[in-house]
Amino acid sequence: MGNVQIQLCGLIFDLLLIFFVLRHESVGLYSEKIFKQCVIVYTSCIVLDILSCVAIMNDERIPGFLVILSCKAYLVSLALSAFYGFLYTYNDVKRLRENFSFQVGTLGAALIGILFICVLPINYLYDGKDILYSYGYSAIMTYIVTMVYIVSTVAITFFYGKQMNPHRRNAVRAWMIIESVMAVIQFIFPELLLVGFGSALGMYILYSELENPEVYIDRAIGCFSEETFKKYITQEYELRKPFSVIFICNEKEWKVGDETEKRILVEMSEFLNSFGYSKLFKIANNDFALVYDKNEKEMNEIESAVNLDVIRQRFEVSWPELSRTKFLYMPDGHVTSSTEEFLLGYLRNRDLFEQGEDMRLIDEESVNQIREFNSMVVEIGKALEEDRIQVYYQPIFSLETEKFVSAEALARMVEKNGKLIMPMRFIPVAEETGLIEQIGERVFEKACECIKQNNLKSKGIDYVEINLSVTQCENPLLATKFQEIISNHSVSPAEINLEITESSTLKSRNVLLKNMNDLMRYGCNFSLDDFGTGESNLNYIVDMPVKLVKFDRNMVQEYFKNEKAKVVMSSAVKMIKRLGLKIVAEGVETEEQVKEIKDLEIDYIQGYYYSKPLSEKDFIRFINDHNMVS
Ligand code: C2E
Ligand code: CA
Ligand code: CA
Repeated sequence: MGNVQIQLCGLIFDLLLIFFVLRHESVGLYSEKIFKQCVIVYTSCIVLDILSCVAIMNDERIPGFLVILSCKAYLVSLALSAFYGFLYTYNDVKRLRENFSFQVGTLGAALIGILFICVLPINYLYDGKDILYSYGYSAIMTYIVTMVYIVSTVAITFFYGKQMNPHRRNAVRAWMIIESVMAVIQFIFPELLLVGFGSALGMYILYSELENPEVYIDRAIGCFSEETFKKYITQEYELRKPFSVIFICNEKEWKVGDETEKRILVEMSEFLNSFGYSKLFKIANNDFALVYDKNEKEMNEIESAVNLDVIRQRFEVSWPELSRTKFLYMPDGHVTSSTEEFLLGYLRNRDLFEQGEDMRLIDEESVNQIREFNSMVVEIGKALEEDRIQVYYQPIFSLETEKFVSAEALARMVEKNGKLIMPMRFIPVAEETGLIEQIGERVFEKACECIKQNNLKSKGIDYVEINLSVTQCENPLLATKFQEIISNHSVSPAEINLEITESSTLKSRNVLLKNMNDLMRYGCNFSLDDFGTGESNLNYIVDMPVKLVKFDRNMVQEYFKNEKAKVVMSSAVKMIKRLGLKIVAEGVETEEQVKEIKDLEIDYIQGYYYSKPLSEKDFIRFINDHNMVS
């Protein structure tokens, strides 16, 4: 009877596992499902093992066919256990999981093996005391099938090891080693019935390493964790299941203290967890994601389904101190096509909330915008790498000397097919991602090269205006880097004029001023760009050490159309001139407009009337043609 005791130990192990596994709500990941099935198959295997032992020991009292049946049932369950171990393992490898013929093939092989086990003959032996086992072709077949699956399982952990969760890979290897050692011992000493116990041990390793449902849970808050969220969404995409999501975006940092923060999150979690058809995950920051296993269309058909308004109301009533909670609603999870894109859709939309807005839709349109944004980011990266950022120059005309005395350097991105992409399309993306620093530096270098190579000074071009974005101005290393570039190109700093803009996104005015002062001491000058747009006003001119003010094209155009704008602009001109600054009017397009501008005390004109921005070659030709004649 000593043998059955080992089996009983295994059984207790497995029953405990079943208890732990079933105790928690499950997320519904397939590894979780297969693991549950594994535990059940393995437990049945041990139960059948014990039953068959009992049957053999009592073979005088029960019909012979029942004893044979119990032995065969045990052998079949043993082969099935090995197959389940294999199933569990290959399901961690996406390529195998999605390979239909592989699945059918391996299942077919298992069924054929089981069929043989069923039909082949079996004998059993019992000496009336300790020695008890079954033998015969059926038993040999079982060993073969079991070994084939154990070897295949181990093979997967080697061939596809890199694509597996490393914890799972190692746990599966340990499991298989224990199981094979036990099987070998049992093969040599058939009276030692160790296999069932061995697999129970293996299961336990898996459980403690991976399949403990607690690992899916955010312990502090009591809903599923961020890690689980990613796995779950990945599975939704793989299985092409319909789903919709409500993201509850709390502020990134609450100033309520840790304890209160936790209490509120738990309250929120309890409230959000109470809806049907959904699973709640605590994700990045203080956010939650409520994932419905239906898309919006299907949800509308369910009366009990909760809608976003109910959630919003509850948040307003219950957590007014966090009234800035915002909501993202994704009516159809399949508008994005992968977990990466899905997460990007969430994170980007989260950043895009505007003042006063508390709800955004993640739909086809917003996802397309994100895709465009992303492909632009990639495109800019490539353009920088392949040196496809070019600089165009727009001549600036002096009304005093009636010559072109400067030019503005304007970035262009050249596509592989030679087509130009205008800054309006790529500069905002570059600004948002920080790539503007590299673009700005590239433009700056190229402008210095152009000044030097063409000896612009000798052609009457006193300086080139180069745009600086806020991000660049906030880099404490800007002044040093630019001085280095200027000296490397042996350009006189006075030939450089940097254009800055007033911006609400400026975080560190001090760094900006330090950069400006350093560069001015070095000999560069600054102008204020975009004057007359919402952001730039007279106060700013007083604060900033600029020598030149550039009137924005829109304001200049208004001046020609609108009497009030005329008054505003002409008084602005007077004030700026009294401060001793020079003025450039941008966007002057016709001869009449030039005449009108001349009535004002404006110094320079930059506009299509004189020239559009030109490639370096065309610009040099233009200057040679126009500045050298008289
Ligand atoms: P901006 O600095 O105000 O540059 C002037 C823009 O007005 C240029 O557009 C120019 O082509 C356009 N413009 C000039 N005269 C006329 C006119 O008579 N009519 C019309 N319709 N437009 C005129 P562009 O080259 O498309 O540049 C757009 C903006 O992109 C620039 O506005 C600037 O804010 C940004 N940008 C361009 N290059 C750079 C750069 O290297 N760095 C940074 N940070 N921004 C840049
Ligand atoms: Ca500019
Ligand atoms: Ca401008």
